[in-house]
Amino acid sequence: MFNSTKEFIKEYKKTFENLYAFTYDQGTNEQQYIALGTLIKNKLSKNWQDTREQYLNDKVKQVYYFSMEFLPGRQLKSNAYNMGILPIIEAGVEELGLNIDQLIEAEADQALGNGGLGRLASCFMDSLASLGIPGNGNGIRYQYGLFRQKFVDGYQVELPEYWLRNQNVWETRNDQSSYIVRFGGNAWLEMDHQGHLIPKYEDTLNVLAVPYDTPMVGYRTKKINNLRLWSAEIPVEEEENYRTIQETEPIKEITQVLYPDDSNFEGRLLRLKQEYFMVSAGVQSIVKQIRKYNLPRKYFPEKIAMHINDTHPSLVVPELMRILIDEEHLSWEQAWEITVKTCSYTNHTVLREALERWPIDMMQSLLPRIYMIIEEINQRFVEETLPLYGEKLTWQTAILQDGMVSMAHMAIIGSHSVNGVAQLHTEILMNDVLKGFFTIYPEKFNNKTNGITQRRWIHLANPALTQLIDEKIGEGWKQNPAELKLLKSFEHDEETLNELGEIKYQNKVKLVKYIEEVQGIKINPNAIFDVQIKRLHAYKRQHLNALHILDRYLRIKENPSMDIQPRVFIFGAKAAPSYQYAKQIIKLINSIADLVNNDPDVGDKLKVVFFENYGVSLAEKIIPAAEVSEQISLAGKEASGTSNMKLMANGALTLATLDGANIEIKEYVGDENIFVFGLSSQEVTELGENQTYNSRYLYDSNDRLNRVLNALVDGTIPNAQQEGGAVFDALVHYNDEYFVLEDFDDYIKAQDEIDIVYSNKNEWNKKSLLNIAASAPFSADYTIKKYTDEIWKAKPQCSGKEGVHPLSEPL
Ligand SMILES: *Cc1c(COP(=O)(O)O)cnc(C)c1O
Repeated sequence: MFNSTKEFIKEYKKTFENLYAFTYDQGTNEQQYIALGTLIKNKLSKNWQDTREQYLNDKVKQVYYFSMEFLPGRQLKSNAYNMGILPIIEAGVEELGLNIDQLIEAEADQALGNGGLGRLASCFMDSLASLGIPGNGNGIRYQYGLFRQKFVDGYQVELPEYWLRNQNVWETRNDQSSYIVRFGGNAWLEMDHQGHLIPKYEDTLNVLAVPYDTPMVGYRTKKINNLRLWSAEIPVEEEENYRTIQETEPIKEITQVLYPDDSNFEGRLLRLKQEYFMVSAGVQSIVKQIRKYNLPRKYFPEKIAMHINDTHPSLVVPELMRILIDEEHLSWEQAWEITVKTCSYTNHTVLREALERWPIDMMQSLLPRIYMIIEEINQRFVEETLPLYGEKLTWQTAILQDGMVSMAHMAIIGSHSVNGVAQLHTEILMNDVLKGFFTIYPEKFNNKTNGITQRRWIHLANPALTQLIDEKIGEGWKQNPAELKLLKSFEHDEETLNELGEIKYQNKVKLVKYIEEVQGIKINPNAIFDVQIKRLHAYKRQHLNALHILDRYLRIKENPSMDIQPRVFIFGAKAAPSYQYAKQIIKLINSIADLVNNDPDVGDKLKVVFFENYGVSLAEKIIPAAEVSEQISLAGKEASGTSNMKLMANGALTLATLDGANIEIKEYVGDENIFVFGLSSQEVTELGENQTYNSRYLYDSNDRLNRVLNALVDGTIPNAQQEGGAVFDALVHYNDEYFVLEDFDDYIKAQDEIDIVYSNKNEWNKKSLLNIAASAPFSADYTIKKYTDEIWKAKPQCSGKEGVHPLSEPL
């Protein structure tokens, strides 16, 4: 690495000039960034290569995390930090007269994911590398990431995000590891002279899968893992068959765009192509890797773990079967044993509309050989299950039903482990959504509560807080997050609490400046910063938040001189482009913001900020300044949530329903340090089942609710007649699917309680400190350790000096 700033500067200048043939001071920010990224990447190469060779020589067990989404955000700072060279780089860049923040922001925010699911995958990549575990990612190199969101008159507009415009310095194209993936045509089996059944294909569309590898750098380790993203191209030997650009479209489009639908199953043929493309290329490259180990095939599960992140990569199961049978010539029984031992699956949602099912016709015509295998898996499953469990359970759990292929059922049947992502979620899977499977395979089910990497979300996003923690409890928590609980001993230490309060205040001042820059809204930094940042979805209930804001507004209008704790409501959220109701909620909140922010009666008492284009980089700016974390989904709907963890770790107090990981947050931090409200998931289920819920009655009988709901439709909110009406109708006339009105009173009460607690600064800071102190269990390092020990059975590969600090129990 670099031993001094001087050395860095020399190498930086050289790298820049080699790239551009002029000096760095004449370059744009982008060029200056590219040179810096290139230099850092070059410094990684040796460890990257050594890691690969060591894994191969020692034939270590490797984990492959299959995910349609990765949401890493910017990588420069994270890589430099994990390598331990960030301070030298910051000093060097400054000495060169450049602005480090400008260079960092010149990097495109890599958004190859929609939200929590993709971000989880990226947090896991960081933790895998930091724990020295051989763990690789497998996904798609979409040319266009998640759309860029703009607001025009308060409406969401989607623009294409061509994140590759300025070269991606972190990736390496590895042509030598390309594979052919076949689609369509006909497939059948023929007996060869040795009696093997050999698959024959005709008229297939052949697509070349080219891998782009990105180093996944661990914190203070020399091990560097690999994120392999596949790109679709025309096979070189077939190029002459394609006469026009249009003819090449069906191939190129496979890896062109990320589907921007979050928790909504988008049933398009192209999506299925994407799934098989990623899965087939990934499994082929893994099998090639394992061939290099030169071991009998039965050792496969001892050397490889393949993880299916949500149902999108479920085709791993039949694809691995195909390769083991057709190419490795194993028997069905041998191949099946290996497949089940190799695969594991995480369920991420209980929302019906997200349960992925494909029409059999579509599967059969797009993937004829794969469909033959799926049919056989299904038939064998039915034959085994029927005599033991009877018809009802068997048909409920079969892969093929009603002319559809159920991807979740395929993943469960083909895996040895099925996990949910928070305690409550796993219970709901076992007792409700996947009850049939839990009866058949109780031993497969387990919980792995999600986590976040504290490196990105505390160390890098909140350096002042990090420094304070270092000063108070030493640096051990950075490698052993359990030590964060030592902060608890400062809960009565006024000096520490004041310092913590001051850090939060300074972070708020920074965000205030940014808000003024990008939104032109003036904010009082002494107001409570109340944050809800996540995808926009009715089950997450941003509209409940909006109703509370309206209620506050109406109270202030009634009595403009009232004494109320100033509050700023901050939103960040993208809506799926086809999700009309979510887009209407965005427009409604933007209109409420216009109303509130420009009303002189309101002044500082109430402000609403809705950031455009929420993503990882914006989250890094907002979270350190947050004081209230809104986690208000209808209980039973949010599988885990992870923004709740990021915010808590930065000292925000959680305002939550008993949903997802909120329940565990409450257990760790204690009832007195969290604000809980609303129906429990059990009450939600009962209310749904006994059909007694009547939202119209609540509207008629609750005066406060009546006033707020009327404000949606009586012209109070300018330019949102239609959207106010749509929300009003959903809540009042269509019986309020997500029980917003039922939870309204309790929510308002909790919000008022927040004002009271906040008026005692010392008390608030104490609760904030205790939240940080209790956040250790949500480090993704613990989550990954559990996956590794209990599901993947892989071993850390670091020892001695480069050693990974052993983790102690977080509690
Ligand atoms: C953490 C994160 C999410 C997940 O937020 P939830 O509140 O758990 O849904 C979504 N998007 C981004 C950019 C994130 O960083």
